[in-house]
Amino acid sequence: MSSEEVIFVIIYFLFVFCLVAPTTEIISAGLTIQNMFAECLGSEQMDFIGYHMRRTTLTLIIHSFLPLGYFVFCIQMNYVPPLLYLFILDSFGKIWCLFSILCCLFSFICVLFALYWFNSNWNTHPISRRLGNLTVEGEGWRSVASSVNIEFRRFDKFTTGTHSRRLIVTDTWLIMTSTYTIQIARQADTHLAIVGSENHDMHYERSTGVQVLNIMVTSADHRVKPFKIRLIATEYNDLKDKLQSPILNLRNIVIQQSLSDQFVEAFKYEVNRNPRYRLPRNMEVENCIGCMQVISNVKLQKCCLDLPQGEEQDGQHGNNFSQQACQSCMCRPMWCLECMGKWFASRQDQNQPETWLSSKSPCPTCRSIFCMLDICLISD
Ligand SMILES: [Zn+2]
Ligand SMILES: [Zn+2]
Ligand SMILES: [Zn+2]
Repeated sequence: MSSEEVIFVIIYFLFVFCLVAPTTEIISAGLTIQNMFAECLGSEQMDFIGYHMRRTTLTLIIHSFLPLGYFVFCIQMNYVPPLLYLFILDSFGKIWCLFSILCCLFSFICVLFALYWFNSNWNTHPISRRLGNLTVEGEGWRSVASSVNIEFRRFDKFTTGTHSRRLIVTDTWLIMTSTYTIQIARQADTHLAIVGSENHDMHYERSTGVQVLNIMVTSADHRVKPFKIRLIATEYNDLKDKLQSPILNLRNIVIQQSLSDQFVEAFKYEVNRNPRYRLPRNMEVENCIGCMQVISNVKLQKCCLDLPQGEEQDGQHGNNFSQQACQSCMCRPMWCLECMGKWFASRQDQNQPETWLSSKSPCPTCRSIFCMLDICLISD
């Protein structure tokens, strides 16, 4: 092979690589199978299971033609003797002849499989078999599919991951998509355990280093095979919130939290040292309006001392609010400590996390300014 031929072969393999494992740039340019065949695939939002059956089948067919494509490419480039001479069976011809037959056979078998799945109205597709393993007696795989489709349309699902390896957690289901199939398990039957972690100095989506957790999902139902999910550590808390059962960490792997989570922990510690607020007899508190999950348990009331005039303007650190004097907030307790911590963090200068605890924030409801000393937990 001449150097020019080697370059063309490398270009072909690069093309194959981009098609099988597209990079973020290729995905954002829309050069993926999902994008190019969007019309035949239909809507993922409306019919999640149907969409992924069509997507995986189409992906299999297109990928099955890649070896044959290489063969045609080589003929075009004259690296292989023209077709007519191919069957003169000298040793060189034999290898190419065998290669071409295998390529054709492989594509042919894949197309046959696709036709078989399509003609059976998808009843024989590997995904429908997988769903069949999750049915309760008297149900077909379509009832599981319809439950998944309905829950996928809800806005409160948890989704993360790259284009071809996405983790989706709904109220009932835990789903992992991959190039040729999807893994699915019923949340109530599964145990999740962290089996390892990797630290990467660079991540293609972020400029900073990331910790990736490997989590094993095992189901109590023996028909569902265990599978592994990969998760960026900063998304760990969001996943935990969506799951009904805890994630086991038997190896005591230290999970690197996001900046906001680390702050909320320090925030809770500081607020716990502040004086308590005694609730008046006639006042009733309702659920926190941020998360709707827990009873509101913080009240903002001015406890800090005002600094002498002029001194507050000295500090040029923190956000705009840190230069204003604290005000008394008249709102009744409407937030929980965690939501208040997240709100406080979101109001700060994101480039100067070291100033957050000494900074100020407006009340989420009435906008009066408060500092860390003005946040009081409600005492019983
Ligand atoms: Zn809350
Ligand atoms: Zn207020
Ligand atoms: Zn204050």
